[in-house]
Order: sequence, then C-alpha cells, then structure tokens
Amino acid sequence: MNLTKQTIDRIDLRNKRVIIRVDFNVPLDDASQITDDSRIRAALPTINHAVDEGARVILCSHLGRPNGQTSLKYSLAPVAKRLQRLLDKPVVFAHDCIGDEVQSLVGDMKPGDVLLLENLRFHAEEEQNDEKFSEQLASLAEVYINEAFGTAHRSHASTVGITKFMKVSAAGYLMKREVEALEGVVDNPVRPFVAILGGAKVSGKIGVIENLGKRVDKVIIGGGMAFTFIKAMGHEIGRSLVEPDMLDFAKGIQEHAMSRGVKFYLPVDCVVAASMEPSAETKIVTIQEIPEGWYGMDIGPASVKLFSEAVENAKTILWNGPMGVFERDAFSRGTLSMAHAVANAYAKTVVGGGDTALAVHRAGETDSMAFISTGGGAALQLLEGKHMPGLAALPNNP
Ligand code: AMP
Repeated sequence: MNLTKQTIDRIDLRNKRVIIRVDFNVPLDDASQITDDSRIRAALPTINHAVDEGARVILCSHLGRPNGQTSLKYSLAPVAKRLQRLLDKPVVFAHDCIGDEVQSLVGDMKPGDVLLLENLRFHAEEEQNDEKFSEQLASLAEVYINEAFGTAHRSHASTVGITKFMKVSAAGYLMKREVEALEGVVDNPVRPFVAILGGAKVSGKIGVIENLGKRVDKVIIGGGMAFTFIKAMGHEIGRSLVEPDMLDFAKGIQEHAMSRGVKFYLPVDCVVAASMEPSAETKIVTIQEIPEGWYGMDIGPASVKLFSEAVENAKTILWNGPMGVFERDAFSRGTLSMAHAVANAYAKTVVGGGDTALAVHRAGETDSMAFISTGGGAALQLLEGKHMPGLAALPNNP
C-alpha cells in the first residue's frame, strides 16, 4: 500500500527554506515538563533528512487548545529544548509564528539550521484556515512538508491553506508511514483480520465499526462501549456506562455482522466496582450478574481468555481503545492482558489512538507491535474511511 501523494524523498531540499508542519502536540505536566516525547521523536527522520540535505528547516506546530490567545501554558518553548537534545544541535525558538521577528530569524538561517516557531494556535486564523495567515506562513519558505498526521483530519491554515501558496508541497516520512500502515490494514489485510475496539463510547467509534465491519473476520468489543451492547442483549448492567440512544445501533450492527459470518465477541465477565471511589469494593461477575448500582470498569479474566483465543490465529490485528478504565491499577488488568495477547499473536499488529498506545507502552509491549499510530482523532477518521483534508491538499505523485 503506497501513499499516492508527493513525498519528501522525491523533493530537492538542498539549500532551500523548508517549512515542516509537525505534530508537536505533546502532553505537559503542571511544571511544563514534557511527559511523553514520542511525537517529537516520530518526526526526527524527516527533520534529520532535511538537515542532512542542507535545508534551512523551519518547524511549526500547535500545542493544546489556546483558542487564538497567547498563553505561556501552551508555549512550544519546552519542545524547542527537548528537540535540541534529541537532534544534538541548536534549535532557535521564535516567539511567534509569523511577523517581522520570524522573517528576520529566517533570513539569518544557514543551511542545516533549525528554527521552531511558536504555537500556531496563538492565532485564531490558524484554525479558521485564514487565507492571509496561510500566505504569511507560506512566505517563510520555498518548500512545504506536512508531517503532522495527527492534524491531517483538520482544515487549518498550516495543513491546508498554506498549500495554495507553495510551489512545492509533500508529505513527510511519518505522514507516509501512518497513512500506509493504517490504510494498509483496512484495505489490504492478510486474513484472518481481527479488529479490537474499546474505549468509552460507542458513539465515538460508530464510523470505525461501520467501516471495518465490512472488512474484518472478527470484531472484539471491550471497554465502556461494550455495556451498550450487553444491555442491547437484554442484560442488566447496573450503573455501567451506557448510551441509550445507541442500543438499536448496537443490536443492529451485531446482527448484521453475524449474518455475514463475522465473529462478534463481547465480554462474558467484568470487574465491577461498588462506586467510583478509589477505595470502593470490587469483584468479578459474569455479564449476566452485574449487581444493581455497581459499575462495570474492566473486562474480567474469562473475557481475557476468550479474547486472547480469538486473536491467537489472527494474521492482522487492529486495536483501538482500552478494555477498561486502565488509568486505575485496579481496572488495568484487562487492557494490559490484551496487550500481551496481541503482542504474542503471530500477526501484523497496528495500534491506533493515544490511550491504547499508552496502555501498550505500560504493558512493555511497544516493540512487539508492527505499528503504533501517533494520531488519535486522525487515525480514527482514516479508519472510518473519511476524507483527510491535510492529505487531500497535497499534490499527487507525478
Ligand atoms: P476513548 O477515547 O473513547 O478511546 O476512551 C478511552 C477512555 O475510555 C479511557 O479513558 C478509559 O478510562 C475509558 N473507559 C474504558 N472502559 C471504561 C468503562 N468500563 N467505564 C468507563 N470508562 C471506560
């Protein structure tokens, strides 16, 4: 599965001013320390390639949701520091992403220099895909590279508008890898193809269930969303997460899948808690015996066994969404056990979504996966088979 878009390896970057839209939207703690720098690391091959080619490398990104306001909390300054360490070379930081100061910093750049611009979303025009703002960004460089897979599902100035004003635009290595990995499993999976879906809500994953439902051999549903399916089967689910307006959809999609020979797996037991308090009593029950007033928080050991057996003969596995409230130790067993089961299967395994990637990391199984996506919403949108504006805006391979 090859990306049909123009890619960085076909572009002459030598001595050019190259603006790279990266996704440096990393999590920061209260002291503005980066708690996970995998998104920065994921862009290094593209940045290093541009540096090695002697380009003047101008990086731009958003961080968080500053809503068009300048705010220290969302500054990319900590990212500049970390990037400097990872690249082992100086990274100049600009205190804005457009304007005279930026123009003059760009003017001072030598081949191989790296400049990181301040958060694009300090300007409301970024998310409005504003023409003038797009043009100002474009004026900084001669070549545009989109490396921000995580924002490829958005029509913003730095992902879409800018391409109108650039003569040369292309996808970076990460963008290429992400699209090829995700599209590859959806469009061309080696069978049996198993999709494991979890997370909080059915409504957030409807599109994925519908799109994948047509292509998979088995669907495994866990996490909070499983309780809507379990209730739709007629079981009492206590105070577990449920979306009443999704009950018919849940019933319909399950029946439809089964009528086409798709194996549909739901939990057979779960870990329930008497309340949401951390000290609450917990126990394991079958899904037919969830006590009134209790909360379903994780899949139980029998479900882990069932799901593990279901993935054992898979040749392709796509996993999106945790099996329970894995952020709390008491309810992380199901998700961590699934990470081991997926890792042990002799399959091409693709993991989508930040939560699932974190769970796989906690299980120590990151290296066992074929591909872990850096994009949450973008990965979902691609798995839904929907249009990706950031990708569509790039020219096709000649
Ligand atoms: P999503 O963003 O839809 O993939 O959902 C991820 C979130 O789902 C995580 O924060 C989990 O804590 C949450 N989650 C998973 N299982 C459950 C459950 N049984 N009840 C409530 N929340 C859950």
